[in-house]
Amino acid sequence: MATPLAHTLAGYVVYRFAGSRDRTLLVAAVVLAVCPDFDFIPGLLIDQPVRFHHGISHSLGAGVAVATAVWLALPALRRVGARAWWVLFAAFATHLGIDFWGPDQRPPYGIPILWPMDDTYRMAPFPLILGVRHANEITADTMTWVGQILHPYNLAAVALELLWLSPFVWAAKRRTRGGTVGDSD
Ligand SMILES: [Zn+2]
Repeated sequence: MATPLAHTLAGYVVYRFAGSRDRTLLVAAVVLAVCPDFDFIPGLLIDQPVRFHHGISHSLGAGVAVATAVWLALPALRRVGARAWWVLFAAFATHLGIDFWGPDQRPPYGIPILWPMDDTYRMAPFPLILGVRHANEITADTMTWVGQILHPYNLAAVALELLWLSPFVWAAKRRTRGGTVGDSD
């Protein structure tokens, strides 16, 4: 998995490439780009944060469901139209793409990216990012998990992610300077 910073920037890039200035869409795109990792939350509730990580929340099927639910729930996004749905789905999909190209230290390796069509866990043949160092044992408790997240290794992971994503952020900001697609504010 990548850091939340990488996923946040990816959501922002999708939003900027869409050419919108709708603030609701910006916030929703960033949240959807990060939200597959909300699968830590049920694990945190039982003091085993990793237990449910990299499940079906990391799939295109979940992306369709979440993008549709958020689009239907927020009138501001419905006013933008179908384009907003695609921005939400694309933002979610960036999470899958980034995690797909990241390392994974515990089986089943990768993510079930094609669920529900296919349950197979898939990952790239080699990682392009360092990935976050965190406890991989499924029974690791929250303190162990947090302790490993605070490892200095993760600063290097953030630096490499910034290196990868900076050109995309720069290109997105240049491309949409003055863009107005779907604006509602
Ligand atoms: Zn993830």
